[in-house]
Amino acid sequence: MLSIRNYVRPQTIEEAYEYAKKPLSVVLGGMLWLKMQNRNVNFAIDLSDLHLDQIEEIDDEIHIGAMVTLRELETNEQLNYFTQGAIKESVRHIVGVQFRNLATMGGSIYGRFGFSDVLTLFMALDCEVELYPTGRVSIKEFANMKFTKDILTKVIIKKVPTNVVYLSQRNISTDFPVLTCAVSNINQHYTCIIGARPLHAVAINGDSYFETGITEKNIQNFTKCVLSELKLGSNSRASKEYRQKIAKVLIKRAFLQLKEDVYGN
Ligand SMILES: Cc1cc2nc3c(=O)[nH]c(=O)nc-3n(C[C@H](O)[C@H](O)[C@H](O)COP(=O)(O)OP(=O)(O)OC[C@H]3O[C@@H](n4cnc5c(N)ncnc54)[C@H](O)[C@@H]3O)c2cc1C
Repeated sequence: MLSIRNYVRPQTIEEAYEYAKKPLSVVLGGMLWLKMQNRNVNFAIDLSDLHLDQIEEIDDEIHIGAMVTLRELETNEQLNYFTQGAIKESVRHIVGVQFRNLATMGGSIYGRFGFSDVLTLFMALDCEVELYPTGRVSIKEFANMKFTKDILTKVIIKKVPTNVVYLSQRNISTDFPVLTCAVSNINQHYTCIIGARPLHAVAINGDSYFETGITEKNIQNFTKCVLSELKLGSNSRASKEYRQKIAKVLIKRAFLQLKEDVYGN
């Protein structure tokens, strides 16, 4: 059971961080993960008054606040136009609409869960996370960072020419994924992200494999390289061998769909 001694609702990010630094403090997102934990909390910090529930276009960036819900990501037209529907695809399997109405962007990224559909997709978008007080960090770097007392305030996507495809494999709808795969072409740079390995998502650079475009041969060579380097494992949902087979299929499907989106054939 989660036992909370003090609930606080700071009015500034500085105040929130002062609480976050105290022993046994926890920042609250939608509490969907937290509520399943067995722990004693001294200060539970609710960020609801910090205006972090907005999706905003600022100059050449899209800023997604930490308190934006997964449902808002799923239904936001601008984000889904920019990502050719990949954001919607990455969250639509997560439990159900009522759940996605509560789960937040901040909790989903900060948790760096191995099974995360959300982390996989946002890594493929090559975005940055804004941490208080550390500042902006690339999401790929953040995925490997130690857990600190920082508060995640925003996720920032650069508005540059972007094509992205998201796919996942589940044993049954709404379950945790067995494997996640996102591929992107951003400013002519190819990246493939594989998550739910079951370890957290990792990025593989595909530039040298797709210099001559997305062809069956190039996909085959790239997949061979990914499978030889990527650490896949077994858990209660799938074996390592099954994940290897699924990875091969998802990478091929994702690149073929990316090709269709980029070149229209
Ligand atoms: C039953 C179940 C099934 C799920 N299935 C999937 C799935 O299939 N795919 C998938 O991708 N995800 C899945 N999730 C994860 C879910 O989508 C959310 O990512 C998760 O619940 C965390 O979001 P939250 O807003 O509830 O965060 P919380 O539970 O409130 O917080 C999670 C962690 O993040 C910290 N935190 C929250 N916000 C911040 C912040 N702004 N700054 C710093 N730290 C912060 C909290 O202190 C806590 O440690 C599942 C979760 C559950 C409970």
